[in-house]
Amino acid sequence: MTQKRGFGWTGVQVPVIGQGTWKMEADPATEALAALQAGLDAGMTHVDTAELYGSGRVESLVARAIAGRREEIFLVSKVMPNHASRAGTVRACEASLKRLGTDHLDCYLLHWPGSHPLEETIAAFEELVRAGKIRSWGVSNFDVDDLEEALEIAGPRRIACNQVLYHLRARDIEDRVLPWCLEHDVALVGYSPFGSGDFPAPRSRGGKVLGDIARAHGATPYQISLAFLTRDPRVFTIPKSANAARVRENAAAAEVRLRAEEIAQLEEAFPLRRGRQLPML
Ligand code: NAP
Repeated sequence: MTQKRGFGWTGVQVPVIGQGTWKMEADPATEALAALQAGLDAGMTHVDTAELYGSGRVESLVARAIAGRREEIFLVSKVMPNHASRAGTVRACEASLKRLGTDHLDCYLLHWPGSHPLEETIAAFEELVRAGKIRSWGVSNFDVDDLEEALEIAGPRRIACNQVLYHLRARDIEDRVLPWCLEHDVALVGYSPFGSGDFPAPRSRGGKVLGDIARAHGATPYQISLAFLTRDPRVFTIPKSANAARVRENAAAAEVRLRAEEIAQLEEAFPLRRGRQLPML
């Protein structure tokens, strides 16, 4: 059973390892559905989706996976930046709720910074909170300057999370974004923890380090990477799998406790590149 931690300032207890759903429309629906449900059974009740995914088809699939168990789920969806005007955000949220078969989201995110003024998007988010259609809101792919702007508009303890790229070969957020989020009580949710399918090859230098640590724990390299990425007690991760066995493997990573010297080995094998602009997929 995956452990939980407080989701930024909201304090809501959310599973550290959740489930992503990007590109699931391309997976066989029966398998994807079974995988999502296996994940829920294993405690991965933090489910991340977006109106973008399969142009709404993934939200409809998620609706089938969570039917009859909505109360267990921490459900997150995202508005596309080109919809994120004041009225457009409300419309997009209502359409997502309909596809998801629910009357509220636990957190609603701006997918990445766009051209609609952030004041408008945030005003719409606050309107949705007041209407009970979302419990909290957050952002995604926000670098520190974007976060500062959002904080300036919204004030403290309003931004629930920042969802950003975070995997072994993209540790950029550790430089400035993660410290900012910790200082402001914003949950950091790392996406694409396996590099979106581009996982270190077993024979690469980093792959060998991962393999050695995995053998020592009787775990898989994928589990070791999830344990590494959630080593900070305030970070969440949302791997995607449409395979029930792999989903269970990902859930079981919550049991892996890395030793300080193993963390140091991984930090050396997958060095942090400082000062880069925040990368996104
Ligand atoms: P990911 O989770 O890094 O990797 C997914 C890939 O890894 C899939 O090909 C999956 O294949 C495979 N996989 C999963 N578990 C595995 C395991 N235990 N062993 C071997 N292979 C495994 O990629 P992602 O989908 O890009 O990122 C995760 C989630 O983050 C997304 O689904 C989405 O919800 C979110 N995301 C958000 C943004 C954003 O801009 N906010 C951007 C990208 C992603 P199978 O499915 O066949 O198992």
